[in-house]
Parts: sequence; structure tokens; C-alpha cells
Amino acid sequence: MNAGGAVPLALLITEGQTAEEYTSVFTLLKKAIGEFGFGGLGSPYCFLTDDSDAERMSLGNVFPNAKLLLCIFHIGQSIWRWLCNAKHNILEEDRPILFRLFQQMYSARSTIQAQEAFELTNTSNISLKYLNWIKYMSKYWERKECWCVAYRDTRMRGNQTNNFTVRIFKDIILQRYKSYNGVILVDSICTDEEKYYVDKYSDYAHGRIDKKRFHLQFEFDKSKYLKKEMIVKKDDDNFLIPSETITGKIYEVDFTLGHCTCEIGRFGKICKHQIVVYSLHLNISEDDTAEERYS
Ligand SMILES: [Zn+2]
Repeated sequence: MNAGGAVPLALLITEGQTAEEYTSVFTLLKKAIGEFGFGGLGSPYCFLTDDSDAERMSLGNVFPNAKLLLCIFHIGQSIWRWLCNAKHNILEEDRPILFRLFQQMYSARSTIQAQEAFELTNTSNISLKYLNWIKYMSKYWERKECWCVAYRDTRMRGNQTNNFTVRIFKDIILQRYKSYNGVILVDSICTDEEKYYVDKYSDYAHGRIDKKRFHLQFEFDKSKYLKKEMIVKKDDDNFLIPSETITGKIYEVDFTLGHCTCEIGRFGKICKHQIVVYSLHLNISEDDTAEERYS
């Protein structure tokens, strides 16, 4: 991932979806990357995947130092399917309520809140009607570090789903068509996908993609309540920023880590508090154009 968006490192085509087949292609990938890849670590920090036992087991075997995380979109999809499965006997009107309980767990902003949400899932009146649901959630909770956002850190940069890369490949490159043999699939990857990324990064390099700039402008506009004298510099890298809405609440921005203690910034995403620190650090004034501020 970079400022221009995610770049695929490799595309692996397997004959099937068994652990052996996954292991063989992941081993090839590891060999191709070499022992000093990924910033000298030889392994990615994490993998964000669907909940496939074969895929996750193979990744764990080939890259034992990487964290195996789950995409929260696919987890939610899987939970909803479980709730709608007739053999689980969940009343239609109860399904959204139970699903909301699960959402409170995975989207909790702290491990304490996540624990409270889990306890509520076990004790709410609707949950108590379905012991199979409580058992199902307890099994999920044992793997909370894989899917519960509160247990993730800033290195995720706020990315909790693998949907974007999947959508680029399935929607844009393959246009939702099924390739009937490997040759067509390889051709799509080597021609259509290559062209897509060449065009995309050419546009980015020539400043023709405005989305990122507009996003930074938007965050900068939100930070205008902050005056220079309201910001306390702890040291060269850390700054204390008052909240706009909560009186007395102070957030801490770590300039080098790209981290803020507010709800948005604590998972590594850019927030208005970080933007204002960057602006001050770079001596950018409010009168500068967005291009000058962030170029
Ligand atoms: Zn913040």
C-alpha cells in the first residue's frame, strides 16, 4: 500500500484450493521474494484473508512470523449467512438484533469495549433464546485477535478488509466474467491487469488523481478550529491536540508513527489532528493551496 493505492506483489494461480496447493504457491512466492524482502524481515507483517482454513494454515506454515488476520467484511457475511441458515432456527426478526451484537464486538474501539460487547452477546434476552448462537459466538471469540478491530494496531492504517483488491481484480480486470481455462486467466493478468496498473500509476505520477488531495483538503478544513497556540509540542515527534467537541479531551499525535489517540487515528488512519501537525511541521499556512501543502 502506498499513497497511490495498493500494488499487487504477486498473483498466484492454483489448480484447486487445498492446503497442499496453497503451500506450493506460497513457497514459490517466498522464494521469489528472498529472505530480505519486506523491509529485510523476509515476511509480511500480516495477511488479511477470507476465513479459509486451507489458505490460512498454508500461510502460517510458509510465513510463520506473519499475523493471520481476517477481513471484517467476509466475517460479517459469514455470520449473516449463519443467522439466515434455516437449520439454526433463528427467527427472522431476531437476526438483525443478533447481527448488531456481533457488529458491536468487531467494531469496538478498545479491548475493554470488545469484552463488554462479548458479554452482552452472551447475556442479552434475544441471545439467551438461542444457545447455538451463544456457542457459535464463543467459538468466534476464541479467535478475536483475528477479526476484532480493537486488537489490531496502527500498521493496518485503517484497512480492515481485502475487498478493494478483490474488487479491482474481479470487477475491473475480469469484469465479472469467468475464465474457462488457465491461458485466458494468465492473459488477463499479463495484459489487462498490467495495463490497469500502468494507467493508474501514470495518472497518479502526473497528479491526475484528485481523490487523495481532496481527502487531505477535507481533513485540513476540519482542523481549522485549531489555532497554533492550542497545540502543545511534547518533543520533536509528539504533539498534544485538544478535541473540537469534548471539552478538556486531549489527543496525542505521534508524527513519526503516523498515529493519533483519537477514534480515527488510533488505527493508523489519517485524521484532522495529524493533518494540523503536518501542516505546522511543514510550515504550511492556511492560505497555501492544497497542492502546495501536500506536494
Ligand atoms: Zn486524531
